[in-house]
Amino acid sequence: MRPPDHAARHTGPMHTHTSSSGPVLVVEDERPLAQIVADYLAKAGYDAIQVHTGPDGVSAARDHDPDLVVLDLGLPGLDGVEVCREIRTFSDCYIIMVTARDDEIDKLIGLGVGADDYLTKPFSLRELVARVQAALRRPRASRLAVAPDADHGWAFDGLTVDTATREVTRAGVPVALTRTEFDILAALAEHPRRAFSRQQIVDMVWGEGWGGDAHIVDVHVAHLRRKIDDDPATPRYVDTVRGVGYRFIAEPVREAAE
Ligand code: CA
Repeated sequence: MRPPDHAARHTGPMHTHTSSSGPVLVVEDERPLAQIVADYLAKAGYDAIQVHTGPDGVSAARDHDPDLVVLDLGLPGLDGVEVCREIRTFSDCYIIMVTARDDEIDKLIGLGVGADDYLTKPFSLRELVARVQAALRRPRASRLAVAPDADHGWAFDGLTVDTATREVTRAGVPVALTRTEFDILAALAEHPRRAFSRQQIVDMVWGEGWGGDAHIVDVHVAHLRRKIDDDPATPRYVDTVRGVGYRFIAEPVREAAE
């Protein structure tokens, strides 16, 4: 499919990614900033696309299937929250939300927006690329050329988690999780019954030294429960440990060799 005219594509000179990886989409209405960010990402070796309105952000995400979206909160047409929710209906891409103020992040986490990471303006380009690199080290299920294999992952009563294909089934039906939701589930499911603090989950999933708000975990766990539990109020799989964090409570019916 040809890129639409509203999406300007930049390909960097050091293009190091495999053909199976998608571009990085920058949705930012401040055009000079969008240009600087796209140029910097291109120099770092990413295929960067920029668009400047909320609706264009949604359609570019549909058309180009990006691996990652750098999404400004304040956008004309459709704000970043709505764009994020819309993209989440069809893509498991990684979403970094860019806000103008630190305190907006708490509000967004409270709203359960479901971005994977947050950056506050002004941010350094080096910091942005570090976040992008950290995110893209985590593969997407839709990008893996691996056959389902009983040797990777776990089966619980009514739930399977395959860590090679990053596929999850609920009562035999595939469940579409975002990368962050999958990573949290896999981190917890690897150690049934063990309680993890939010910070421990952040360290396992986002990496140590991420430095963001650990309550972001709550948002992703809420989305995860909605997808895998019949009744999120009485979870069968991911349980709240009051004052601590979360634990996985189902017992494996088989545990395959690593
Ligand atoms: Ca803006």
